[in-house]
Amino acid sequence: MEYPITQDAGLEARDDRLVTDSARTDRPTPDVDVVVVGAGIAGLYLAYRLSRAGHRLRVFEAGDDLGGTWYWNRYPGARVDVPSIDYMYSFDPNWQRDWQWSEKYATQPEILRYLNHIADKHDLRRHITFSTRVRQAGWDDGASLWRVRTDGGDDVSARFVVMATGCLSMPKQAEVDGLESFTGEVYFTSRWPHDPVDFTRKRVAVIGTGSSGVQSIPVIAEEAREVVVFQRTPTFSIPARNGQVSPERLALFAANEADYRSAARMSPGGIPMERSITPTFSVSEAERQQRYERAWGIGELFEAINVYADVLSNPAANHEFAEFFRNKIRAIVDDPQTASDLCPTDYPVATKRPCLDTNYYATYNLPHVRLVNVRKHPIRQITETGIDTAHEAFTFDAIVFATGFDAVTGAITAVDITGRDDAALKDKWADGPQTYLGLTTAGFPNLFLITGPGSPSVLSNMAVSIEQHVDWVLDCLGHLRAHGFAAIEPTAMAEAGWTQHVNDCADITLFPAANSWYMGANVPGKPRVFLPYPAGVDFYRATCDEVVARDYLGFKLSGPEGSMCNDGLVRRLQPDVEMILIQMAAMNLPTLDSMPVDEARAFYAQMSTTRPPGPDVGEIVDGVLPGATGDLAYRLYRPPTPGPHAIVVFFHGGGWVVGDAVSDDPLCRDLCVRSDAIVISADYRHAPEHRFPAAVDDAMAAVRWVADNAEALGGMPGRLAVCGWSAGGNLAAVVSRLTRDAGGPHIVGQVLLTPPTDGDLTRASYVENADGYGLTTALAQWCYDHYIDPADRRDPRFAPLCAGDLSGLPPAIVVTAEFDPLRDEGKAYAAALDAASVPVEHVRARGHTHQSLTMVDVALSGAPVRARIANALRGFFLPTRTPETAA
Ligand code: FAD
Ligand code: NAP
Repeated sequence: MEYPITQDAGLEARDDRLVTDSARTDRPTPDVDVVVVGAGIAGLYLAYRLSRAGHRLRVFEAGDDLGGTWYWNRYPGARVDVPSIDYMYSFDPNWQRDWQWSEKYATQPEILRYLNHIADKHDLRRHITFSTRVRQAGWDDGASLWRVRTDGGDDVSARFVVMATGCLSMPKQAEVDGLESFTGEVYFTSRWPHDPVDFTRKRVAVIGTGSSGVQSIPVIAEEAREVVVFQRTPTFSIPARNGQVSPERLALFAANEADYRSAARMSPGGIPMERSITPTFSVSEAERQQRYERAWGIGELFEAINVYADVLSNPAANHEFAEFFRNKIRAIVDDPQTASDLCPTDYPVATKRPCLDTNYYATYNLPHVRLVNVRKHPIRQITETGIDTAHEAFTFDAIVFATGFDAVTGAITAVDITGRDDAALKDKWADGPQTYLGLTTAGFPNLFLITGPGSPSVLSNMAVSIEQHVDWVLDCLGHLRAHGFAAIEPTAMAEAGWTQHVNDCADITLFPAANSWYMGANVPGKPRVFLPYPAGVDFYRATCDEVVARDYLGFKLSGPEGSMCNDGLVRRLQPDVEMILIQMAAMNLPTLDSMPVDEARAFYAQMSTTRPPGPDVGEIVDGVLPGATGDLAYRLYRPPTPGPHAIVVFFHGGGWVVGDAVSDDPLCRDLCVRSDAIVISADYRHAPEHRFPAAVDDAMAAVRWVADNAEALGGMPGRLAVCGWSAGGNLAAVVSRLTRDAGGPHIVGQVLLTPPTDGDLTRASYVENADGYGLTTALAQWCYDHYIDPADRRDPRFAPLCAGDLSGLPPAIVVTAEFDPLRDEGKAYAAALDAASVPVEHVRARGHTHQSLTMVDVALSGAPVRARIANALRGFFLPTRTPETAA
């Protein structure tokens, strides 16, 4: 999905004038400033902050008491899965005077006691109306306020509404036929009774093996006569190893709590932890196994997922980690069939929420506990006495549903929320939620979502994410008040950009590969969209802060005195490209143009040694071919499939100054495997020793030699394409024209990846992207100056864009990158080819830089672009494009 913005548009159109809006000066005063919906951790913190900031507020809570999740989910074994000292409010530095956690992972009753303690200590109950569900909230545009209605008959007007309704508070329907006929007891983990439930001597069914099932099954099994677990999808679970808080964490905490909390806020998951930057396969097998064992032994979910940087992005890395878990399951569970059924195999580890357990797998070794694999033996129906599968009729005294939630959006869309022009939020989100920062949504002014879709929420320690959202909302309300604004709303552009960014982040992970509740896949009919923001609490917080620092970028603020809007996109780079740029900037490396040429070459070669190697190919052959004036090195990459193959002659990047036949090795491997063609990376002489047109002469010589020797090289004669990146892209374009004029060799297609095509430094992209995106305008100029005299720069052997006649050139794919100084000349060349009736596919790589598309296995977001290149190559090589048929 692309947001409706072209890369060239002025993305930060700014209007910070206050425009008088006299129509809004006689607005009615609302009953309260803020209505808060929900009294869980978020609602309570909102009550605390809003009341202290002097806002008039009402909190409505559907439950009979406070606590949210911890009020409703009272099932046996319910606990936190992040350590309690992390899963708590951080606003009271003296909390230890009147509270202590009894263990590392507190139980539901203890957490509920804690929340009650906070409410009592800060006198928060007086703001809350319990047993009251908000049914409707409608924005009254004329009065610029919300009208909120509840099932208790309340009709309250408020300037702002904050949905603190929880990500996991709307239970999913049972979705099994016949439940009403069952005469035994029925329980939902998410709506557990307040009175004690006694399973002694009872036959109990548990449906569902997510976190709630995994926590409750071992405890139910301690009591019940018989337990049958109905499992649709097995889960990955690690032992919680509950007990005392780990000494390392305690030491960190005791040393300086403020620092500890601040580290949590700037961590990937909301718990103090360094983001792993080590790729799985960069260390030995023995070291990896050791690391996995540590993850298994430490009993902390976030630590476990953080073992290596690429667990959630590299399928092979994920597979190895998953296999480690599966081996653990096989080792614990005695019965091989049960063990096999408990092993997840159809989704990558951690793409569904992993669980923390106490004795979960070992429980299946108990003689009275049995697992039914619902995929093999589907539940047919619930009967009067139990559950029928296709193969067996079970009798039960009680059925426990641990079947989960309509997560993240369910509790929000359950309220009839209408915004401007009576538009319903439910309709707006029919194909998936759209928000700006997961906090707000366009068309619904003054509506805030706490941990809404598009924010880290359920992928993080929620206590930290809730505080961050509430703090942001409070700062925002303060800002509006201080500046005389009454309303705030995101712009359509900002929202579309954020939605795109969240999808971009998800697309470079393995998350979309699972049928998870993160994807909305657990609720029939729910759109499949990745709901939380996966780039981390740290990046997310920085983004929210940046939005504020840039005058509420992407928001429209309005009031009686006028309005202001600083429209634009807060994140425009692909997320992984941004991360790379941040890391590169932190390394503070010297720039090539600051070095003598020899040093620059050595530095460039050295940098190439630190990157991932790229995919395996069938064969690599290094050789020499006759250049225009002497031998030139080449490297041939042969696909693993049986030949003969089509051939791509590849010219490397490096500004005609640096690089060689192997400097684009990962890219060439990737091209070879994806296009199933032989790739021959041919070197050429470099400047300044060999200035223009030496490189062109060598490139021509290479193409002729490959064409003449195609068969001997394992290629198919006549199926020859050229490809190049950067300066190499320029050479590929030039060679395509020179071979046309020379009457051969016949080239079936040209791939031009971020090529210079006239070196015109006055183009807008040289100004817009002059610095900060890898290739700088200064470096481009350094390359041009080394390569060619200014007087020669309109020669079409340097500037293919200056060639008079482009007709009859081979079909082309031209890739330009949004944040590349060379972008506009690549774009101009694509347009010129098109104007000359040359078939051309112009790929605008959104959010990419000059280099990022070549960063195989580093900038994963470049993979779809390289797939398009390979696809184009396969098209070039179709028999209809060979010289015989072309003639
Ligand atoms: P909730 O606690 O869900 O509170 C929302 C409240 O809003 C509910 O009380 C609900 O009744 C009320 N409400 C909803 N709609 C309406 C309406 N229309 N009108 C009035 N009231 C309404 N997260 C972690 O980070 N770590 C954990 O270990 C962890 N464990 C969890 C265990 C379980 C069993 C579950 C279900 C979730 C867990 N979570 C955990 C996620 C957990 O939901 C959050 O950590 C956190 O409690 C959410 O707080 P909240 O205030 O945002 O929402
Ligand atoms: P869940 O993770 O969605 O698990 C629901 C389970 O029920 C899944 O195994 C699901 O199978 C199964 N299921 C759903 N409908 C079914 C049907 N019709 N027939 C058969 N099986 C069905 O829900 P949850 O366990 O309540 O946990 C939700 C989230 O709450 C967790 O992921 C976590 O974030 C949080 N939580 C945390 C803790 C904790 O440890 N602190 C405890 C509980 C919950 P499929 O996977 O095939 O859909």
